[in-house]
Amino acid sequence: MASSSLARTLVPAVLRATLRSRPIPDEVADQSVDTFLSAYFGAEFARTFGSALVHGIYAADSRQLSVRAAFPSLWDASIRGKGNIVRGIVQNALRPSNNLDDKTYEMGNMMDKMKGVSVYSFQDGMETITRALRQDLEKRHNVEIIAGDAAASLRRDASDTTFKIDTVTGRRIDASHVVSAISLKALNNIVPPSIPITSTTSQNSTSSVTVVNIVFPPTSFPIHPPGFGYLVPRPRSNALDAELEDHAGTLGVVFDSCALPQQDLYANAASPRFTKVTMMLGGPHAFPHNAESVSEDKLLGILSRHLAPSQPLPKPVLIRVHHLTGCIPTPTVGHLQRIAAVKNDLKKSEFWRGNLEIVGAGVGGVSVPDCIEQGRHVGLNW
Ligand SMILES: Cc1cc2nc3c(=O)[nH]c(=O)nc-3n(C[C@H](O)[C@H](O)[C@H](O)COP(=O)(O)OP(=O)(O)OC[C@H]3O[C@@H](n4cnc5c(N)ncnc54)[C@H](O)[C@@H]3O)c2cc1C
Repeated sequence: MASSSLARTLVPAVLRATLRSRPIPDEVADQSVDTFLSAYFGAEFARTFGSALVHGIYAADSRQLSVRAAFPSLWDASIRGKGNIVRGIVQNALRPSNNLDDKTYEMGNMMDKMKGVSVYSFQDGMETITRALRQDLEKRHNVEIIAGDAAASLRRDASDTTFKIDTVTGRRIDASHVVSAISLKALNNIVPPSIPITSTTSQNSTSSVTVVNIVFPPTSFPIHPPGFGYLVPRPRSNALDAELEDHAGTLGVVFDSCALPQQDLYANAASPRFTKVTMMLGGPHAFPHNAESVSEDKLLGILSRHLAPSQPLPKPVLIRVHHLTGCIPTPTVGHLQRIAAVKNDLKKSEFWRGNLEIVGAGVGGVSVPDCIEQGRHVGLNW
């Protein structure tokens, strides 16, 4: 690493940020991740590390993503360090946590289980969480789960304080309070057109991602080096078409067999090992939703160029392609201020009277923990 081209970008960038103080001007309420990182660490660091990180988490363009929404601790560090971000990061790290919520989560022995864990998964996939939630909720006498029936409209008569939710199949649900966990765009589609939740949802776009799972048969040579995988940064602005073509819209690749080997069950320790990788394509690049752009030849060509294995890649035993349209919201610059304004409107509006709350990836953070945390805090003022 020390002599690699990444280190040649990283080391001077960190030194520069350590020695430099660049307070954010008072009138600047938010910046893109790219602008922010460029100011502290330099443009090349922002392009390589910043854009790649954003590709991996948001499948978005770091030049559009809000740093305050996506990486609030970096913004805080800049404020705390009075413009010296490295000092701010160190001060934040040394500051004792005063998060009272830590004490009130019912965590069981989860904190011990998660010690030293950087990645976790579930044998049967992420659906394990929602299935467990459902099972628990179904035991409660005051909970009814209606599945397979979307909300078609959310209304309230002027003379009545009760909301009326009509579903696609014609069911009517009366509610004194409503928590919306659907996207703001979807919510806007079901509320009265005269009272839109927000007129600025168009500023928050979404990313579409193609996820490709590939399983290679056991080989006598390693298909990839050990590790979690890799992320692909934004090409240089003066990139030749060849550089773009080389990656063909790849955002990153996860080495699943290495990152989460516990997912793979074998008869015994001597059983030949398969190699699983997951490619993610699309996001700010063209969405590769036609068959040609995700053909086996094309995908293996990209992987071979990236991984440069000692022998040609074998024919995969399985390739699964999933096109996920509009699957991750992109909180663009100014997102926090826009959401604060929407929440304020909902609180003050005579129509909503503070009885409709909004949560979810497009509101308070895209990660699963962010979504859980939002659910936990919702309705605290009711
Ligand atoms: C490829 C990919 C990888 C990811 N990896 C990770 C990861 O490793 N770690 C992590 O923390 N996060 C990850 N995320 C992000 C995370 O999974 C999502 O941001 C999060 O699950 C969003 O939760 P949500 O409840 O806000 O939205 P959703 O899960 O989209 O739920 C919204 C629900 O509302 C329903 N709905 C919509 N309209 C209506 C209507 N009118 N009536 C009733 N229901 C309606 C939808 O059907 C949907 O079920 C990943 C996302 C993607 C796409």
